[in-house]
Amino acid sequence: MLGALRTTTSRAVVDSWLDKVALVQVDGNAVTLQVGDAQLADCVEHNYLEPIASALTTMLGAPAHVALREVPPTDMGPQTVALFPAERAPVRQGLPLELLPSDADTQEWQDLAPRFNFDNFVVGKANELAAAAAQAVSQAPGQVYNPLFLHGGVGLGKTHLLHAIGQAARQRNPGLRVRYVAAETFIDDTMSAWRSKDGHARSDVRALYRHNVDMLLVDDVQFLQGRTPMQEEFFHLFNALHQSGKQIVLSCDRYPSELQQFHDRLRSRFDWGLVAELTPPDRDLRLAILQRKARDLALPLPYDVALYIADHLRNNIRELEGALTKLTAHARIGQRGIDLALARSVLGPLVELPSRNLTAEVIQRVVAQQFGLKITDLKGQKRHRSIVEPRMMAMYLTRKHTSMSYPEIGRVFGGRDHTTVIHACQKIDWQIKTDASLQSAVQSIETALGK
Ligand code: ADP
Ligand code: MG
Repeated sequence: MLGALRTTTSRAVVDSWLDKVALVQVDGNAVTLQVGDAQLADCVEHNYLEPIASALTTMLGAPAHVALREVPPTDMGPQTVALFPAERAPVRQGLPLELLPSDADTQEWQDLAPRFNFDNFVVGKANELAAAAAQAVSQAPGQVYNPLFLHGGVGLGKTHLLHAIGQAARQRNPGLRVRYVAAETFIDDTMSAWRSKDGHARSDVRALYRHNVDMLLVDDVQFLQGRTPMQEEFFHLFNALHQSGKQIVLSCDRYPSELQQFHDRLRSRFDWGLVAELTPPDRDLRLAILQRKARDLALPLPYDVALYIADHLRNNIRELEGALTKLTAHARIGQRGIDLALARSVLGPLVELPSRNLTAEVIQRVVAQQFGLKITDLKGQKRHRSIVEPRMMAMYLTRKHTSMSYPEIGRVFGGRDHTTVIHACQKIDWQIKTDASLQSAVQSIETALGK
């Protein structure tokens, strides 16, 4: 999970805060974390519970409930330490330090993750254009598509491709200065430079990103949405690099024109080069990926089990990995081989067969009826509490009783982002366990739905 958070959250955050959080228990989807002091508990609770929950959700393949326990350091057993061996990414490599501005010495670039390479990226219809473009860019940086803009939903391989491009390019040309940065890290770095009293800090950050860089890989640029001064800063960085022929590769969870609250001039630069989409994998690709991962893990995965997973987990590739991880863990704990019975018992509850005739439309109608709302209220933007809660319930029930993916649910609920849907599902799932009146409201809707 820390590994996953490192790719989406700033390194500094992971190293200074999240590294000190220990995992004490995983019981189904209920995950208990433990921290050693109140300040840290507060910080994690307020700022990072959501990213943690969403990282866990993708790993477990179902909404995760995260509980945070605060325990004085002396009570944290030695196994806590063992759970997180100091697995820090190496300091940036191969840079002549004297060429860097002074402050940049303390900055560290996140290193590329060797486990994300072209060799283990399985190609199918869903990603072949993106993969081919990525290969091309890695072979001729700055010469074919600049920028290369990769977009697609969560868990479809954007981060994987970014790292793969960087590594392949570096392999071809070891002198090439390849830099990977999560957009959030760029934002953090720039923010702290702006806040710093030191007048040089601002120009130092600019220097860090503009000099000593031949290829810049920026992950998740959607985080720049709504941040006008930050977009300004990024716009100048983009221009500086582009004008000097440096390769820029961007990833995003949506198409450039779908970016909200975004400078047109920056948005339009995003499709100067090539825009390539990663779509959810079809069944063949899901199967191929499962088999490839099993092979890499030296995991005997019977074909019927692979089929079972591929048929039931259809949203993204991270889910498939999560299923394999879960199965392996259960097989190991139970000291048994992986077979269909095990897969059914372990994964069944997560992938419950959707009922035949229940659709999002029916659910929306019943929920609206129960709360005296209009269906358009559920799809609309009103933020009033009396609407927000039923809307979240309806999304939750749609996820539970249909086979629709989060992005699909988002679309039928007025074009909402899939992360909004995930959040709604997690919230209701949690409240059902803690709020009796909400629980009975959900139950009565389910009865009305014939469940
Ligand atoms: P994104 O950045 O789009 O959310 P990631 O790149 O983090 O998704 O991919 C999620 C997981 O799925 C990663 O562990 C990645 O290695 C794996 N993955 C994604 N696409 C493929 C693929 N085509 N072949 C093999 N593994 C993949
Ligand atoms: Mg990613």
